[in-house]
Amino acid sequence: MSQSQESLPDDKISTPHEFIPARYFGESNLEASRIIKISPFKRIVLLTHHRAYAADFSQYQWLFRHGTPDFWYEKPSNPEYTLKGMALQPLASAMTDFAPSSTRNDPYPTALEMPRVWASGALTTPLDDDIYDCTAGHSRDGDFMGACHQCTDEKSGAIESTDLVYYLVISTSHSMERAYNGGSATAPSHGRQIYKLISCGSREAAVIEAFCAAGYGWNVIFSCVMRLGETLGEHEGKVERVDSLWKLAEMKSGGEIRVFY
Ligand SMILES: [Zn+2]
Repeated sequence: MSQSQESLPDDKISTPHEFIPARYFGESNLEASRIIKISPFKRIVLLTHHRAYAADFSQYQWLFRHGTPDFWYEKPSNPEYTLKGMALQPLASAMTDFAPSSTRNDPYPTALEMPRVWASGALTTPLDDDIYDCTAGHSRDGDFMGACHQCTDEKSGAIESTDLVYYLVISTSHSMERAYNGGSATAPSHGRQIYKLISCGSREAAVIEAFCAAGYGWNVIFSCVMRLGETLGEHEGKVERVDSLWKLAEMKSGGEIRVFY
């Protein structure tokens, strides 16, 4: 296959499902990163799949704790933003692109030239993921390398009947000056970073949101899954990472909040 610079990238996708497919445990690793063209939006996107760690989550705790989904925020400069009771001020008219930009606080989310989308485990792990590490001693029919079907059936049944919340952290630049270019803004000189949280009830819905955010030219910089009702908010107890999605279906041991990422 020949690949000229003009035709870069060769990778074109047109649906959310092609953009971020489900990935079962034990499937061959996805490429570390790909440059993809999202055809319906004519947008070139850097798609990455590397694993998320605690430091990544802690970077956006301020938004999980104090932000309201769908509003744009700047990261508070006050280092005490993690303190209980601090209220974030959403930037005004974040969702109305065509509202007059009458105040300096009116955010205009910029379409980035090449947004990046980080599709880590939260966006790729299916509810019926295969479980390899059987701890119940089920018969494996001599196949000790494969998934335990009994564990997989039990755990996927439990997680499928658990109400979950999928979160995306979206970011882009905030342009103070509105510039029109065929209806969409381009800002060669980037303003300050703005962030918003999107929450969804399923992986499929989260993948659609990620697809559209990238199409608008916004980054998807983090994603995670929690149980519905377990919100960080004013929670002062432990926040515990679970390493498998199905573990969110288990009974809690205490007052901790569990997060899969
Ligand atoms: Zn088993």
